[in-house]
Amino acid sequence: MSDVLRIFKCGHCGHNLRFGSRRCGECYSTTPVWNRCTPMRLLTVVVLLCAGGVGVIMLA
Ligand SMILES: [Zn+2]
Repeated sequence: MSDVLRIFKCGHCGHNLRFGSRRCGECYSTTPVWNRCTPMRLLTVVVLLCAGGVGVIMLA
């Protein structure tokens, strides 16, 4: 089993896109935005912001 996450398919050639990559590995067309902006990255930012906010409240 591959350790590379492949969720979305290329809209041009149907190639399974490597998650997070900006271009299709087969036809080199740009991948959809949702393949690039990883939800995990957004989640990390939100968690960090929340943790920072809670930290400020605890200190006050
Ligand atoms: Zn493609």
